[in-house]
Amino acid sequence: MHEMSLAEGVLQLIEDAAQAQSFSRVTTVWLEIGQLAGVEIEAMKFCFDVVVKDSLAEGAKLEIIATPGSGWCMHCAQTVPLAEVFGECPRCGQYQVQVTGGTEMRVKELEVA
Ligand SMILES: [Zn+2]
Repeated sequence: MHEMSLAEGVLQLIEDAAQAQSFSRVTTVWLEIGQLAGVEIEAMKFCFDVVVKDSLAEGAKLEIIATPGSGWCMHCAQTVPLAEVFGECPRCGQYQVQVTGGTEMRVKELEVA
């Protein structure tokens, strides 16, 4: 389950931000997850709760913002919404779509105390 290491990465980011901006408690974390990032949202929530135990984010609420995937269809020569990495183009049905968005995960915002 790679969500565990991803969750650890998120905690690391939070701790770095806490040092830089001198806050000591995080109450809510908004995490943006691309639809094509390969992250299981339920697993992510579970792992987050595990890794933040005894940290400044213990008990923090995790809000997931799912961002849609998108790709460039070579056949249509335009950007199209994409549901999976090797998915077909919803316009022409061909599989010549290059992923252009929705593969990232990032911390969008922190609510701190
Ligand atoms: Zn197409």
